Amino acid sequence: MERITCKFGGSSLADAACIRQVIDIIRANPSRKYIVPSAPGKRTADEQKITDLLYAWHSMARRGLDPAEPKGIIEERFSSLARELGVSFNVQPCLEEISRHAAADEAPDYMASRGEYLNGRLIAEALGATFVDPAECILFKKNGQLDPQSYTLLAERLQGDGLFVIPGFYGATPKGEIKTFSRGGSDVTGAIVARATASTLYENWTDVSGFRMADPRIVPDAKRIEEITYRELRELSYMGATVLHDEAIFPVREPGIPIHILNSKKPDNPGTLIVANRDSKRPVCGIAGRRGFTMFNIEKTLMNKEHGFGRKLLSIFEEHRVSWEHMPTGIDTISIIASDEELKEKETVIVEAIERLLEPDELHVTSGLAIIATVGKGMNRLVGVAARLTGALAGAGVNIRVINQGSSEMNILIGVEDQDLEKSVEAIYRVFDAWE
Ligand code: ASP
Repeated sequence: MERITCKFGGSSLADAACIRQVIDIIRANPSRKYIVPSAPGKRTADEQKITDLLYAWHSMARRGLDPAEPKGIIEERFSSLARELGVSFNVQPCLEEISRHAAADEAPDYMASRGEYLNGRLIAEALGATFVDPAECILFKKNGQLDPQSYTLLAERLQGDGLFVIPGFYGATPKGEIKTFSRGGSDVTGAIVARATASTLYENWTDVSGFRMADPRIVPDAKRIEEITYRELRELSYMGATVLHDEAIFPVREPGIPIHILNSKKPDNPGTLIVANRDSKRPVCGIAGRRGFTMFNIEKTLMNKEHGFGRKLLSIFEEHRVSWEHMPTGIDTISIIASDEELKEKETVIVEAIERLLEPDELHVTSGLAIIATVGKGMNRLVGVAARLTGALAGAGVNIRVINQGSSEMNILIGVEDQDLEKSVEAIYRVFDAWE
């Protein structure tokens, strides 16, 4: 029997008209049973999301400032939603309760979670659904990871007929305190609910019609990705988590529940389906690039005869708690690439440690590097992929600083100068788009 978990993002729930569209979507398919809403998003570009207003409220209250402004906006938004949707939900007593917590010396998580909580209550009433508070069934362990017991608790609570609404973004710690996932975390809640209920599909409704093969700000006519595997999507993580939270894959990957990215404003658009396996018609399914990397290039004669050279190098990064991205090697050279975000101000201490522990002949640090991942399981064992890719870059006059292909043969990474990012992505997209 088909059973669908549907997560709706903030932009799909920003006003009463959007929520009505969402209700129509839910009612259009009786298999849509478990509904995971985000907090209401922005109605206009210059408005703030409810979650941001709640963070602002918390920070003002902590500093002893009067939070009347964010509180007033939140009150107005939920009251008008209730009025326009014709539900009796009264936000007032909830806001008084939130006010009592606002200045407490605790993490902002409780406050931030209230956007989802209030919206969940409102939507449950509008749908005539059962409201299930994740504070009672999505539990975190002491180390902050999800307690697998949550799956059993959720499965118990989500039994029976009718619709269920489970607000996204939060759960509770072993001490019973509210804890949120990182921003955009309702996607993760949706995946957890899908797994707990053994859903046959996890629909993730947002404001775009799925993933595009390349960033549309660089390639405006980039095609929609129809189907992509969990692994390919991981390899495309440089796309950023603008469409889907990057931890949302893990709960559903093991049981193989597909994720369908859909647009609530264009529900008939086929969107993107994320699956365990697919027939690879195209060699490349996506191209994603990101700026802000630094490369440490180390040279030492007879390095390849020395035992433990690589281990010592990596231990320096480990000691300074810098997670590295790539490590291309030569015979007497080894390079290690890390993002500037990870490196922060640690570059100098890392250079000193390399000099001291590894005594290299040469050590060069190159910053201002962009990395581009060209991904597709159809590349595996296909002759000519790298030739086309490098040919495209040569045609665009781009110098490749570094190149790396994983042994899975489904991702070729190239490093180029920051300023060459856009033209490289465009050139790679064009060459593979033309290669059916
Ligand atoms: N409302 C939260 C945020 O803005 C979580 C979510 O929307 O998924 O990050």
